[in-house]
Amino acid sequence: MKVDDIKTIGVCGAGTMGAGIVQLAAQSGFNVKVIDVQEAFIQRGMSIITKNLGRLLSKERISQADHDAIMGRISASTDATVMADADFVIEAILEEVEAKKALFAQLEAVCRPDVVFATNTSSISVTQLAGVSARPDRIVGMHFFNPVPVMKLVEIIPALQTKAEAVDLTIELTKKLGRTPVPCKDTPSFIVNRILVPMIIDAVRVYDSGVATAADIDTAMKLGANLPMGPLELADFVGLDIVYHIGNMLFEYTKEARFNPPDLLRNMVQAGWLGRKTGKGFYDYAERT
Ligand code: NAD
Repeated sequence: MKVDDIKTIGVCGAGTMGAGIVQLAAQSGFNVKVIDVQEAFIQRGMSIITKNLGRLLSKERISQADHDAIMGRISASTDATVMADADFVIEAILEEVEAKKALFAQLEAVCRPDVVFATNTSSISVTQLAGVSARPDRIVGMHFFNPVPVMKLVEIIPALQTKAEAVDLTIELTKKLGRTPVPCKDTPSFIVNRILVPMIIDAVRVYDSGVATAADIDTAMKLGANLPMGPLELADFVGLDIVYHIGNMLFEYTKEARFNPPDLLRNMVQAGWLGRKTGKGFYDYAERT
């Protein structure tokens, strides 16, 4: 299959990442079929897309006609058999091997044999996922970044079993989505998180040892390292639970102390201070909402 043969993209999961991928694909001119397990989750995902497109419309970045055409290209269902129409499928469901395995089995029963299944997994080995699929040579890691409509990078991760054509097709599709593909070996946390998470963890240690306030650490890193967001502000944005989870996973894998999350991070996670999503992290968001 050539990239120009891809007319309809299937997206599994209408959560944070799935909704972003649906929006990006529809804005890039593809028909999109999205599935989730419950109608309520589909409604939640569609409302994220409606809100984002509404904002683009009000800022005159898209016309009313564009808006209507984009919405018209999206159809949603709780029935996985609609994926029979997909020329390429991207899964962004919950981060569990068994759930992804069950989804692949559903997809394998309805999708054409040449259809590539891309996984947006952040922490499961793509090779392991290929191993639980009946078409291991067509499983590719396609790691988008949140928020998907804004972030320009997609890490492309072949499993050991993946055929070169499937990787090439995923790279070409990424470009058609207006994103920059960066190929990467199947290693824990790929490129960005493997470098970013220890930097955030170091910033937590610097903060914990009283070197400077959170705001001053962020200002220093923004102005001194030319970062758009300081590391602690970024930790709050990503979610401290996610940073903690990735740090632990990398520590387990490499045994390198720099990945080991400090006690303060663990305590904040246990306190439910997860950052923006819970209203408190290194900063307080209660009065900002
Ligand atoms: P989320 O919890 O916001 O959304 C997951 C959605 O999948 C939910 O709506 C859930 O109902 C749905 N779902 C569960 N089982 C399903 C099934 N069998 N079929 C269809 N839908 C199903 O999660 P998320 O943050 O969007 O993450 C999704 C995937 O993307 C995970 O693999 C995660 O590791 C990865 N990822 C997340 C981020 C991030 O910043 N959130 C970044 C990159 C990659």
